Amino acid sequence: MKGIRKGGRGKRFNRIVNAFPFNKLSFFIEYKANLKGIAVVKIREDYTSKTCSRCGEEGKRVRQGLFKCPHCKYQANADYNGAMNILKRSWEHVFQDGAVAFSPEPPMTGKTKAEAHI
Ligand SMILES: [Zn+2]
Repeated sequence: MKGIRKGGRGKRFNRIVNAFPFNKLSFFIEYKANLKGIAVVKIREDYTSKTCSRCGEEGKRVRQGLFKCPHCKYQANADYNGAMNILKRSWEHVFQDGAVAFSPEPPMTGKTKAEAHI
């Protein structure tokens, strides 16, 4: 703390400080998910804003908020399109690596509720 107040900040220090909230958030999500028995898969986000979530070809962010695909003519909110690409990638991990999200206490269905009373 003394060093921070004195102001002797280097590039390395700034990099650590700037990265801290993200690392902390990332750690927290993994920690909480592990407590609940939920597998966490980290997804790369490169090209997710340039790729068409419908046909997989390269599209363009024509305006800040709008994505257009010249191949299949798909148009969508750019953030929505990027999020759909990240979702698709996460499914690939689920099928390839066998990563599963599960709850140790599954919600009770009609059947399990009835069995619980026996
Ligand atoms: Zn497309």
